[in-house]
Amino acid sequence: MSLPEGVEYRDFGDGTRLATKGEPVGAEAVSDGWRAWDPRRSKVAAMLDRELKLGLSSGDTVLYLGAAAGTTVSHIADVVGPTYAVEFAARPMRELVRVATDRSNLFPLLKDAREPETYAHVVEADIDVLVQDVATRGQATVAHRNREFLRDGGRLVLAIKARSEDVTADPDTVFDQVIADLESTYEILETASLDPQHADHLAVIATPR
Ligand code: SAM
Repeated sequence: MSLPEGVEYRDFGDGTRLATKGEPVGAEAVSDGWRAWDPRRSKVAAMLDRELKLGLSSGDTVLYLGAAAGTTVSHIADVVGPTYAVEFAARPMRELVRVATDRSNLFPLLKDAREPETYAHVVEADIDVLVQDVATRGQATVAHRNREFLRDGGRLVLAIKARSEDVTADPDTVFDQVIADLESTYEILETASLDPQHADHLAVIATPR
């Protein structure tokens, strides 16, 4: 199985778990400097558990949309290079700022991911990986609007939440619609259901056309 450098399955005494090295965030299991990365709490961890090729490598520049309190983006920042973390809600941002004080390569941005022009002056162009987990209506539109930051050959790592688009629609119908919309500016490389850890979520790995 090919995991990004710096991500390993480690023994935490109660079994083997996905893990990264770094300062702990919240009440997560730690052992010997490694932090467990829980696929039930992190869609990106669930994607790695499914052996999806996220394109994350050491030294990469990452733009992460929907960072919340930093549970996932902290693991990513600990294995890549400069990591820009966009979150528009003030409450999780307070915790994200605290998480970033332990990480000199993690840059929290209190911004709306639907308005990339408000952070284009901060985020460098030609990022390697765009991670999106915004749980909002218009998830394809957010991916289109932020595509300008991605380098040729870079990766979009997207978790689509069906219920954020339409609470009443069949999730598979929503996924088909979002993917059809994405295909105007992205080539889809892989998809995988994130059930049961994340009900009605689909992982999509894509590259800019
Ligand atoms: N990715 C996080 C993790 O794994 O630790 C969890 C993200 S949570 C499912 C979705 C987050 O997206 C929320 O914190 C929400 O405030 C944020 N969000 C939703 N719409 C947004 C937008 N337009 N711009 C920025 N953040 C947004």
